[in-house]
Amino acid sequence: MRDQSITIQLTEEKNVKPAPSTLEFGRTFTDHMFLMDYTEGQGWHDARIVPYGPLSLDPASMVLHYGQTVFEGLKAYVTKDGVAQLFRPTKNIERLNRSNSRICIPEIDEEFALKAVRKLVEVDQDWIPNQLGTSLYIRPFVISTEPYLGVAASEMYTFAIILSPVGPYYKEGIDPVKIAVEDTYVRAVVGGTGEAKTGGNYAASLKAQEKIEDQGFAQVLWLDGVERNYIEEVGSMNVFFNIDDTIITPQLSGSILDGVTRNSVITLLKDWDIKVEERKISMDELYDAYKRGSLKEAFGTGTAAVISPIGQLTWKQEDLVLNNHETGPIAKRLYDTLTRIQYGEEEDRFDWIVPVE
Ligand SMILES: *Cc1c(COP(=O)(O)O)cnc(C)c1O
Repeated sequence: MRDQSITIQLTEEKNVKPAPSTLEFGRTFTDHMFLMDYTEGQGWHDARIVPYGPLSLDPASMVLHYGQTVFEGLKAYVTKDGVAQLFRPTKNIERLNRSNSRICIPEIDEEFALKAVRKLVEVDQDWIPNQLGTSLYIRPFVISTEPYLGVAASEMYTFAIILSPVGPYYKEGIDPVKIAVEDTYVRAVVGGTGEAKTGGNYAASLKAQEKIEDQGFAQVLWLDGVERNYIEEVGSMNVFFNIDDTIITPQLSGSILDGVTRNSVITLLKDWDIKVEERKISMDELYDAYKRGSLKEAFGTGTAAVISPIGQLTWKQEDLVLNNHETGPIAKRLYDTLTRIQYGEEEDRFDWIVPVE
């Protein structure tokens, strides 16, 4: 399987590339996609890059009924010298296999998956927008394709990779958001699938998101499923709090995602000799810190926004205003450092960058 080659069929009809300033997240796709199939007994086979287009699925395909599917999200950037590069892609591929394992999807060779990502991005390289803040979002995913209505692990799968050029996440500089603390619905529980990037988790999160959207909140802060008190994540980002200059983030408990950005942030903070703790943190503790004046900053971390400062947290009808609705110094320093590494403007001291070619 490692030596499997990728056949390439180039399209004759190229899509029109929208102006970078008009790009929305996840609405435009490039000219090609990567596909590879799995059949029980045969393993993964027929790796190919083909023109982007609809997939043909049997209506009994298991993914459509029981949601046996996983995905990843990472980005390719182009430096000002025109070099295309990826940020920590092996982390995403390792996580893809951890998600696969949780959902009973067969493992994918990690070296080969990286080769597939690099090859596809190379083929559609002229789709990487080259303005600062823009990038090419890479979406690998696996779906179960066996036509069978029994509840069981599928014996057939497709691994696909699609690419989407995305504009800057922040149009007018990095901007703090309002977050509603969700104390009715939960996203995941320990023992469930919260640490896997699998479709059902996101379907489960929509109701809470819908509830707060027209009240001016950007996202919800998820609490644990048992006591509705311990903090989990914010929307689909990991979350960090600055309490008296110690940066605290919920530990990886099994119900939250092990974010690549989270891991990079922890690495940077330790490198800067800033105290960082991965541990349980409750809303009660956070509220006490706020009342004491010790809660200095809060921010979310994820591939899409990199760092998303939180200007306000609303919990049980009370508004906790953080850092006067302004981006705090640690959030700002993390954002600047991470984006400078991603765009090749700062030395890659941690070996995070992988060239496309
Ligand atoms: C993808 C994701 C994250 C962030 O992970 P990154 O690897 O930093 O992009 C955090 N939480 C959830 C629920 C996610 O799906």
